[in-house]
Amino acid sequence: MNIVGHLINGESRTDATRTQDVFNPSTGEVTKQVALASKQTTEQAIAAAQAAYPAWRATTPAKRAKVMFKFKDLLEENADKICALIGEEHGKINHDARGELIRGIENVEYACYAPELLKGEHSKNVGPEIDSWSEFHPLGVVAGITPFNFPAMVPLWMYPMAIVCGNTFVLKPSERDPSSSLFIASLLEQAGLPKGVMNVVNGDKEAVDTLLMDERVKAVSFVGSTPIAQYIYSTASANGKRCQALGGAKNHAIIMPDADMDNAVASLTGAAFGSSGERCMALSVAVCVGDESADIFIAKMSESMKSLKVGAFDNENNDFGPVITKQHLDKVVGYISGADEQGATIVVDGRNVSVEGYENGYFVGGTLIDNVKQGMTCYEEEIFGPVLLVVRVESMEQAMKLINDHEYGNGTCIFTRDGEAARYFSDNILVGMVGINVPLPVPVSYHSFGGWKRSLFGDLHAYGPDAVKFYTKRKTITQRWPSAGIREGATFSFPSN
Ligand code: NAD
Repeated sequence: MNIVGHLINGESRTDATRTQDVFNPSTGEVTKQVALASKQTTEQAIAAAQAAYPAWRATTPAKRAKVMFKFKDLLEENADKICALIGEEHGKINHDARGELIRGIENVEYACYAPELLKGEHSKNVGPEIDSWSEFHPLGVVAGITPFNFPAMVPLWMYPMAIVCGNTFVLKPSERDPSSSLFIASLLEQAGLPKGVMNVVNGDKEAVDTLLMDERVKAVSFVGSTPIAQYIYSTASANGKRCQALGGAKNHAIIMPDADMDNAVASLTGAAFGSSGERCMALSVAVCVGDESADIFIAKMSESMKSLKVGAFDNENNDFGPVITKQHLDKVVGYISGADEQGATIVVDGRNVSVEGYENGYFVGGTLIDNVKQGMTCYEEEIFGPVLLVVRVESMEQAMKLINDHEYGNGTCIFTRDGEAARYFSDNILVGMVGINVPLPVPVSYHSFGGWKRSLFGDLHAYGPDAVKFYTKRKTITQRWPSAGIREGATFSFPSN
């Protein structure tokens, strides 16, 4: 059986003492094995990155950017292959995989600005004949650890910027859908990247812990679930590393009584069920202000959901595919059953969906649950499935309190025609990414991405301008070239201007 291995110092390797099955979630079949890197293999990847660092650090930003220009072309030329790999192992429909890849490529385009982004800051005459400037130096070896749900895009949030800033990189993708991440990274050598600058180790906790403990790794970018994000952040920090760890989410949309209800329903249908709800920006809770809005919303949403098509990844007519594993399927079904038991109302039930010809696939149909309340398990926890909850409240203040009290603060959205309400909402909501009549407010590549509260551990957001700060350290130089003949004696007071 095909083994998905590692990329270390430009070499493809499949060495592993342990392997794990990789499934096609549309069929439930095991299609490949993924090699799980040992501590020793992971250390070899770190050593390769460390060895490549001095020469790469000395390469001009313009030359580093040229690699990214070529890399972007290669990603576009190989888009069909990449989307097929994503679909086979993740299950997302081809059109959705293409969207993911395009958003990933936008981060490569941003990385092409490296010479501009790394220009630094200069001040002439900060004192008599004294000039001062700040430079942005790379950190060294940087690691990225990524989740299953965006196997192309999330790694591309990290290494293009880390690499153009002069660092070398070790990526540990999700072991559940490893092939697209590995294939994409292999294109960098064709783009002209020297061997060892980019390395990939597939694996699990053993590989991750090696990256977290090794003192040669200077920074760690992580995206995944909140318990693991917290573990990564505390372990990396305790080992003296810079760390950003993006975690889980529970994204609420407020439906105000004055909202354009058809627009809100169309937006939420895509944002709740697209990619089977396996997006950290999926809108999974509709908070309806007033019973009348809730009744209209439920009626229109139930109607809209009648046309949802769930099925295999390679049929472009499908809206969304299976969830990632059998275990995750059981978990999502468990949340729906639990909501029923805890007193919520199942309006549209996606349990027991069967897709003809794909009876062993991990499919859950779109599910709509009304009368959900704070404290119910389905409300408090991230479901990560095609399940939309409806919470009924009496006022916008109550809706905002609900959001602000939730442990997660990744994304949110308000549907309204009232500009004053929208402004009040965006000013006071404790969430990192806010939409106003925009259901998935995922920042473009020249802004940065990140949540608040337990959706992000660390100070800097992912990609965009924050990535330059995260992947570099500042050095400030103050320089004086005294004119001939001007000499000052010793001064004992603290220098001031
Ligand atoms: P996960 O936390 O299970 O895995 C993420 C990574 O951590 C993987 O590479 C995995 O191998 C590794 N890992 C898992 N358990 C580990 C352990 N015990 N020790 C060390 N490493 C471990 O997440 P997932 O299921 O792959 O992805 C889904 C989650 O990611 C959801 O919670 C989703 O909200 C979140 N996510 C967040 C964002 C964001 O930007 N905030 C983006 C995408 C996904």
